[in-house]
Amino acid sequence: MLNHKHKKMRKNIVAGNWKMNATFQEAEELIADIVESLEKNTPGCEVIVCPPAVYLELASDYANDYENVLSIGAQNVSEYEKGAYTGEIAASMLASMSMEYCIVGHSERRKYFGETNQQLALKVERLLENAIHPIFCCGEQLEEREAGNHFKVVETQIKEALFHFSNDEFSNLLIAYEPVWAIGTGKTATTDQAQEMHAYIRTLIAEKFGKETAEDTTILYGGSCNAANAKELFANKDVDGGLIGGASLKANDFVAIANSF
Ligand code: PEP
Repeated sequence: MLNHKHKKMRKNIVAGNWKMNATFQEAEELIADIVESLEKNTPGCEVIVCPPAVYLELASDYANDYENVLSIGAQNVSEYEKGAYTGEIAASMLASMSMEYCIVGHSERRKYFGETNQQLALKVERLLENAIHPIFCCGEQLEEREAGNHFKVVETQIKEALFHFSNDEFSNLLIAYEPVWAIGTGKTATTDQAQEMHAYIRTLIAEKFGKETAEDTTILYGGSCNAANAKELFANKDVDGGLIGGASLKANDFVAIANSF
């Protein structure tokens, strides 16, 4: 099933998730500002921008003009291959636009669109077939953390959606740990909470796929990460960067985060 177009290694990455924001004009201004700012302050990490699907072509054109400065990702993909699924976007369509990454299973998709781990497994499958790296989101709700179930919740999300893949297939995935209580709330996980969960996720991967695959997996943190707290979060051994929501809509903030390694 796996298309081996490009192989991923563990990297430092900052990815911006614009969610459902920006008009076409605003999107163009934002992508232009990000590229300009990245050229002036080249970060020591890969930078990915995930705009709404209607702006992917625009963003790709900018990224192509400034090679190596920016990668582009989608925010979602259909679990189906193609056909009569009105409104959906297929992984093959993203691949035909040279998309390298796609977010899968963001907590907002789980919450508002009822996405299940089983559906997410299919989405990941479609992406791998098309040589697109899935950025698989996982994370617990506040009540689950307060009840002490956060490790179990994240473990179930990862195992149910991802552990039937082969080692080779899994090697193309990135994980984003995003505690739901920290997304868009201004409440960031402490560096200890982030490191502890990232280390736990890496242990789970090591148990299933071996230490080498675990060490090679990029694990991002997401949840109210900003220019003021990114350095401290990224300094953790198992935190390889961030998935950024709100702060990715301001070019200077986003690029400052990318420069936090
Ligand atoms: C996100 O939605 O992936 C996210 C991390 O949002 P924010 O940075 O706004 O908390």
